Amino acid sequence: MTDAPSDAPAATTQEAVAAVSAASRAWAASSYADRAHVIRTIADALDTAAADLITTAHEETRLPETRLAGELRRTTFQLRLFADVIEDGAFLDVRIDRPDTEWPMGAPRPDLRRMLVPIGPVLVFAASNFPFAFSVAGGDTAAALAAGNAVLVKAHSGHPRLSDATAAVISSAARAAGAPGDLVRVIHGTDNGVTALRDPAIKAASFTGSIAGGRALFDIANARPEPIPFYGELGSVNPAFVAPAAASHRADEIAGGYLGSITGSRGQLCTKPGVLLVPAGSPVLDALCDAEVPDPAPLLNDRIQEGFVKGVTSLSAHHGVSVLRAGSDSLADPPGTTLLLTTLDEVLADPNTLVTEVFGPAGLVVSYTNPADLPELARAMDGQLTATIVADEDAASDIALARALVPILTEKAGRLLWNQWPTGVSVTYAQQHGGPYPATTAPTTTAVGTASITRFLRPVAFQNFPASLLPDALRDGNPLGVPQRIDG
Ligand code: NAP
Repeated sequence: MTDAPSDAPAATTQEAVAAVSAASRAWAASSYADRAHVIRTIADALDTAAADLITTAHEETRLPETRLAGELRRTTFQLRLFADVIEDGAFLDVRIDRPDTEWPMGAPRPDLRRMLVPIGPVLVFAASNFPFAFSVAGGDTAAALAAGNAVLVKAHSGHPRLSDATAAVISSAARAAGAPGDLVRVIHGTDNGVTALRDPAIKAASFTGSIAGGRALFDIANARPEPIPFYGELGSVNPAFVAPAAASHRADEIAGGYLGSITGSRGQLCTKPGVLLVPAGSPVLDALCDAEVPDPAPLLNDRIQEGFVKGVTSLSAHHGVSVLRAGSDSLADPPGTTLLLTTLDEVLADPNTLVTEVFGPAGLVVSYTNPADLPELARAMDGQLTATIVADEDAASDIALARALVPILTEKAGRLLWNQWPTGVSVTYAQQHGGPYPATTAPTTTAVGTASITRFLRPVAFQNFPASLLPDALRDGNPLGVPQRIDG
């Protein structure tokens, strides 16, 4: 809603929820082909408006225009990919069991037909660090729209004008393509976000941000008289384990890759590998001190700058932590790159203090003497979005370490990487961006990739229904041509 004032009162929030609810019913009833057409039209309109949107995004977030242009490309690619995915109807996961009097459970099987349907209006809490890809037109919105739901976005306070401008583009594109103009609406204000989350018309919510904020909103979603799914992406340190042979053979490559990963987007990425484990005395330590890093550049906003200074200061104050690399500007605004150093024994003694997310260009390097101790650290870690192993495939000792780590990291993280860095999350079919708490509040799902659409769908089974009352996707003869898994 472009004409909503930024301090819209609760009454306006209720009106926005009502408008989105009405739009959601109409949208859910539209054909998959029509939905795909509308989503593609929205993507085209965002591309057409790119210049203005990028200028506004740059003014509000201080992110460089080249980075913002790439992010907008990713955002419109994502919308088009999701449009492609819904067009063939496979996302409905249609299953048909024909009646079977001989069903071996001891009682006849009825005619059962199951499919996924839209969950209902979705509330999206936009992220600060991706003003396009995790904001008004971002991944959660794309997934909710593809699933057949209208979306209410609680704009992030870091880019209110961009949020309104993006919603305006979406609204006029949707109207032009024959969809409701209220398909995506924006509200502003922390309290209004909570009011919307409590509104019974909202049927699911998603969030990207801090552990404290995400947890507070998750608790509100669960305390409602009708609790709803809350897909929160909260915090992750994304540990990276460097095995001994790789450390001695590829020190410069590893140091350069690591520093590139923690300074990209000024370290303001949820997948930033905040903790790097390296062998004590390894040449990687020297290489980390020598490799080039980008010049300091401003963080997204004052709140994140303050959080960064607090995080680095608090870690540096720990008795077991020293400075590996820092310029005179490490706590300035804008801040330089900081690497802190500690040992595995210190981390094992106090994992909660030392293994913590610091949002910004900083990393904690942990030296270890015995690789056999690393699994203990992996076991002590909280849930993670990613975990990385840097190792030489030809070195038996590296492979042995990896074999010990992989089962534990599989329990702990949503995405495991081998000799690559976790930042730069590709939007694909097999992508998994999630993980056990506190990485997310919903470890069975993903926030990126086409599998994210399922978060905003709900299964319904029809038992013994006449064909005339069944949804087209469940009918014999398959009039929509959607993939059907038929038993019997
Ligand atoms: P945030 O403070 O958690 O805010 C995210 C969104 O949730 C904003 O819309 C915010 O509203 C709202 N919100 C937060 N706490 C709330 C509460 N108690 N009640 C109602 N609404 C609430 O996150 P942020 O501003 O993006 O960044 C702060 C920190 O979050 C960063 O320093 C970083 O540590 C972490 N972060 C993590 C990720 C990730 O991908 N996991 C991404 C970005 C940031 P307002 O805008 O109105 O305050």
